[in-house]
Amino acid sequence: PEYGPVILEARGVSKHFGGLAANSDVDFSVREFEMRALIGPNGAGKSTFFKMLAGVMAPSAGTIHFDGEDITGVGVTRVCQMGMSTSFQINQLFDRLTVRENLMIPCLGKSRGRFKLDMIRRAERVSGLDASIEETLAQVGLSHRADTPVSHLAYGEKRRVEIGLALATQPKLLLLDEPLAGMGPEERASTVALIKSLRRGRTVIVVEHDMDAVFELADSISVLVEGQLLVEGPPGEIRAHPKVQEAYLGG
Ligand code: ADP
Ligand code: MG
Repeated sequence: PEYGPVILEARGVSKHFGGLAANSDVDFSVREFEMRALIGPNGAGKSTFFKMLAGVMAPSAGTIHFDGEDITGVGVTRVCQMGMSTSFQINQLFDRLTVRENLMIPCLGKSRGRFKLDMIRRAERVSGLDASIEETLAQVGLSHRADTPVSHLAYGEKRRVEIGLALATQPKLLLLDEPLAGMGPEERASTVALIKSLRRGRTVIVVEHDMDAVFELADSISVLVEGQLLVEGPPGEIRAHPKVQEAYLGG
């Protein structure tokens, strides 16, 4: 693939929770239109790192630049407005709202910052969100479930709504935190295909434990261990790296 210039760059990023260093001095950069995987054992600090990139939490130290702007500590609304959004590892869905209503939430957040949940039903009539929501529903294969409450969905469908939450704001950089977690083989295959389709015209960074999927999807892989970046490189190099085998792939 043809890459553009560096679109995201973290320099010296650390995050401390009390005495715990979840991330230490991470330097990380991604070029436009790359598909990057971030891997590492449980507790390595991957989700924490994503939350800092997406503006959900501020780093304790270091800076993050996105699309030519310093976004360190600007918060999730601004980061989303600039064109980066994330799906979360932990379920963020409102069970009693429909799939379409759930997808409206990040769009309203992007356009208005704070809003109340009762605005969602009104927004269905007044705002011009419809076309982009319908497009997102189609992309994640849930057009036929648009008016179904999330509580009625199968697990794999819920996970696809979560990818939809990140997609709904039409980001140029998409972060996906363990999109395949807990999926059966069929759901997994269709979600891998979905992720491949999402990279068209955008940059994608994915955290994933499923190594077969990582090696299939990623152009390059960054390995985080105990909050620090251990090594980075193309899949073939990472697979063969002795430190990676030892720290992560189990010998
Ligand atoms: P990963 O996603 O790689 O499994 P996380 O980023 O979720 O790792 O967590 C890294 C470390 O930071 C873990 O030890 C975790 O318990 C800790 N941690 C994450 N979030 C918080 C938080 N909000 N408060 C305190 N500790 C946290
Ligand atoms: Mg995680």
